[in-house]
Amino acid sequence: MTQRVSVVVPMPAHSQIGSTLTYRSELLLTPGTMVRVPLGKRETLGIVWDAAESGNDLALPEHQMRDVASVLSAIDPLGRSWRALVEFAAGYYQRAWGEVALAALPPQLRELSQQQLQRRERMRPALATSSSVPADAEAPVALSPEQVLALAGCQASRGPHLLFGATGSGKTEVYLRCVQALLQNDPLAQAMVMVPEINLTPQLQDRFRSRFAPTYGDDAVVSLHSGMTNPQRLRSWLAAHKGSARVVLGTRMAVFASTPRLRLIVVDEEHDPSYKQHEGARYSARDLAVYRGRLENATVVLGSATPSLESWHHSRPSTEGGRYRRQEMPSRIGAHASLPLVRRVDMNHQPRHAVISPPLLAAIRQRIAVGEQSLVFLNRRGYAPVLQCTACEWKSGCPHCSAFRVFHKIDRSLRCHHCGYAEPVPRACPECGNLDIAPVGRGTERLEEHLAELLADTRRPDGLPVSIERIDADSTRLAGSLEQQLSKVHSGAVDVLVGTQMIAKGHDFRRITLVAAVNPDAALFSSDFRAPERLFGLLMQAAGRAGRDAATSRKSEMWIQTFYPLHPLFDALKRHDYPAFANRQLAERASAGLPPFSYQALLRADARPHEAAQRFLTAASTGAQTQLAGLPGFSHITLYPAVPLGIQRVANVERAQMLVECPVRAALQGFLAAWQPVLHAVRRSSDGQGLLRWAIDVDPLLI
Ligand code: ADP
Ligand code: ZN
Ligand code: ZN
Repeated sequence: MTQRVSVVVPMPAHSQIGSTLTYRSELLLTPGTMVRVPLGKRETLGIVWDAAESGNDLALPEHQMRDVASVLSAIDPLGRSWRALVEFAAGYYQRAWGEVALAALPPQLRELSQQQLQRRERMRPALATSSSVPADAEAPVALSPEQVLALAGCQASRGPHLLFGATGSGKTEVYLRCVQALLQNDPLAQAMVMVPEINLTPQLQDRFRSRFAPTYGDDAVVSLHSGMTNPQRLRSWLAAHKGSARVVLGTRMAVFASTPRLRLIVVDEEHDPSYKQHEGARYSARDLAVYRGRLENATVVLGSATPSLESWHHSRPSTEGGRYRRQEMPSRIGAHASLPLVRRVDMNHQPRHAVISPPLLAAIRQRIAVGEQSLVFLNRRGYAPVLQCTACEWKSGCPHCSAFRVFHKIDRSLRCHHCGYAEPVPRACPECGNLDIAPVGRGTERLEEHLAELLADTRRPDGLPVSIERIDADSTRLAGSLEQQLSKVHSGAVDVLVGTQMIAKGHDFRRITLVAAVNPDAALFSSDFRAPERLFGLLMQAAGRAGRDAATSRKSEMWIQTFYPLHPLFDALKRHDYPAFANRQLAERASAGLPPFSYQALLRADARPHEAAQRFLTAASTGAQTQLAGLPGFSHITLYPAVPLGIQRVANVERAQMLVECPVRAALQGFLAAWQPVLHAVRRSSDGQGLLRWAIDVDPLLI
């Protein structure tokens, strides 16, 4: 008998959130089954959904209904809880089910036919053994007393737990033990471990492989991140879906992995902004991990030395925040290990225009003389952020963006970091012909050059000249180059490491005893209310790269060059006092009604010309006020005026946004859902002319 099935397909971004399409099928298909279905003139991958759940089935008249083209029966249906996660994410972040569901699957699934999949399945075991790396069993370490307590705490309940552990306190070992206990106690259980950046996955993967492969086999630990090839991703995904992978490691996308028996989710460096997706469904993988834990009865462990203020707030005594359990590990591993001494250099009392102050330079020289490494941190890559004519007003603006192009001396180019537009540096000023055009400001490339000059006469203990290495997005463009650079640092061949936040995070450097932030002041006075939080986290992380070896930790130092040495942020940093910093920030946010004491969403509009973006947003706001005023909770909603983005024009597209704020999360959610049809109508009206796209960003990180 012919059946009707509801199917979600990758529909255009703004089709209705909970919508499915009905197809005919000769077979009874259980929800979660993957199918190929006709959609317009193409055929696409779809997922059978539970018809009863869908309020918006776009059922066509019988004669227009089309047949399911084929069923991917080689793959087990996606589970009920996976579908529930997709529905929640789509609803919360205001996107269509089909869009979220299909984006969560490995890209290759969309292309392969049933036959191709079956062939792949047959080949898999051979492939797996041939690519296996021999794993050395890692000698187990004895846990520190703090680790013992934290581990017991994380095992005592499902949490969510906030593992608040200093840098070098051994959080990774706690994750490993949590996973180990789980795998031992439950022969089917799976764990998911997320890290913010692809760069951090190889190191993590090695540690998990060497710990678990000897017992559970090479296939027990798989990775999922965008740096993998499509076939690799498909293989990992299938192993997780079938349950043969016991540990899934990955970046934010891993949160959507299909795992039939998920019992533990770890989010390492949970404060990191990289957990937020910036296109399509703008989800926070950390927040979804917490939701998923509740949904699937899995323990959730969020780890950080500098938690997000949201998570910190949730881990405060229940009268204040109260949902997370805090597990604390304040000390570094090792009997005499301590956190680096933080030193502030008052730049008001240093020679004018000094980039590296004399005392900092002396300290770096000292380290070199005894064979120790220094890390100099500057969060801006390239040679100089702008090139300027000394005779006229000309600056190296980008013709397509409202931003300057950065001067990269290495290939003498001007490159826009927003749209990618690059050109050779002009020989003379394009406006007046003056030959004297000069770099203004300083990026890592120029800092590296400057340090090389300053340290030209300094010698290493072996009498050789100083070796300086720069690590940033430019130096690591080629595949494998970061690994090469890192192993050079680990080997001790490098004396001074210069870099951006890329090196400040996560890496377990053993020989660095001095870390310096040369110019961190800008974030102190940013209009972005999250800037101090990010700066504090970054500086604590950077400081955490120093003295990770107990033998050297006592003399390790973090230097801050600043014009505001008395700023409370630096004061808290000096005392390694994250709680003081966090509580102060939270008090400010509470009085200003900012997150986590309110909830925000942005309506973003891209258009050409700029007026079109403003017009759309203004009409959207008017539409809300005239049509939605009767909505429960509407009186709590604040709609702010539309404003251009900080960098208003990127790649010739004008960008504007409008902030929506509400102290009650449910009211904001209700409002956003009701706003969708209004926005679609505005888009179609004359007020939508010139609009290229719009999107809603729920819980935005950058405002
Ligand atoms: P975190 O992630 O908290 O910054 P890590 O997990 O990287 O810290 O641990 C710091 C270092 O201490 C690592 O080299 C790790 O191998 C080591 N370590 C962790 N726990 C122990 C322990 N119980 N005994 C000895 N060394 C440990
Ligand atoms: Zn000029
Ligand atoms: Zn540009």
